[in-house]
Amino acid sequence: MTKIDDLPIRDELRGKSPYGAPQLDVPVRLNTNENPYPLPEPLVRRIAERVTEAARQLNRYPDRDAVELRTALAGYLTRTAGHEVTAAQVWAANGSNEIIQQLLQTFGGPGRTAIGFEPSYSMHGLISRGTGTGWISGPRNDDFTIDVAAAKAAIAERKPDVVFVCSPNNPTGTAVEADTVLALYEAAQAARADSAGALVVVDEAYGEFSHRASLLPLIEGRPNLVLSRTMSKAFGAAGLRLGYLAADPAVVDAVQLVRLPYHLSSVTQATALAALEHTDTLLKYVEQLKSERDRLVDELRAIGCRVVASDANFVQFGLFDDAHAVWQAILDRGVLVRDNGVPGWLRVTAGTPAENDAFLDAVRTVWKERI
Ligand code: PMP
Repeated sequence: MTKIDDLPIRDELRGKSPYGAPQLDVPVRLNTNENPYPLPEPLVRRIAERVTEAARQLNRYPDRDAVELRTALAGYLTRTAGHEVTAAQVWAANGSNEIIQQLLQTFGGPGRTAIGFEPSYSMHGLISRGTGTGWISGPRNDDFTIDVAAAKAAIAERKPDVVFVCSPNNPTGTAVEADTVLALYEAAQAARADSAGALVVVDEAYGEFSHRASLLPLIEGRPNLVLSRTMSKAFGAAGLRLGYLAADPAVVDAVQLVRLPYHLSSVTQATALAALEHTDTLLKYVEQLKSERDRLVDELRAIGCRVVASDANFVQFGLFDDAHAVWQAILDRGVLVRDNGVPGWLRVTAGTPAENDAFLDAVRTVWKERI
């Protein structure tokens, strides 16, 4: 049987495994930071209407520049993220993973490097590898905040072309202060003063769940700062695959040099537009999830776990001598959480109140058995 490594694949892909959380069929799945609430019926009907309209023109390619959708996304950010942006400042793709890929194809690539502060979203490193961009693993403090002095020193020494700041950070839930982003932005521009500077990508996939304001206003006057967002979490539409960025219009023009023509299908654009019409309803679910997230933090602490303060729709909890064994013991009780490989810690996504109760019961039992 032919194996991957028997093929003439790129050397840096040899021996690697594809990214992906286990998709196990268990009663309670709290492992991929999805929104547990199905889309409301009126929105499902509106999607059907919009998609029907789009279907009548599927013989044609979609709007290549997705202008109507980018206008609606700009309106959403302007209303909710504390800063006015126009369609020219917004770009959309198939999930924010594709946004990140397009950014790395444009600003990274062979001979260039990107840095992130780990533990953080592992796809930043993996998409870097996939685009031939060298990956630099930067430091974090023990409490999972960014160690600003160490991060600035790493940037000054390694002079990366792209800097990733994930806020709220996955998997820890930690929000990043605006001052920290500004300090890293300045350091990154200074380190690359020989060229046009470095791109700083603020990944705000979980921005809507934060206690703090969006970092969107920081793009003003900073052409090398990009904010990345997604409809997979707050909009409860992970299956839709719709991510977007907000930045200087020049960044939007630049990513068009690498995007595949017609990358965003008419069906995707129609579905996303329907979801954006129902923003207010969907954001009510976000409020419920925020209070469930806070309940998870309180109850896990009451059980005796250590919990990292969370601004996202998930919670990192520990500390376990053998986190993987605890993961398995929770799974044996029908609840799937995430073992990200951060030693001692596990991550749980906020689900419905009933799902969270099932999870907390499982942890209570496992905690008693192990202590
Ligand atoms: N950024 C972060 C921090 C994430 O956690 C995720 C999803 N797990 C993504 C980006 C990608 O999300 P999507 O491609 O669904 O928009």
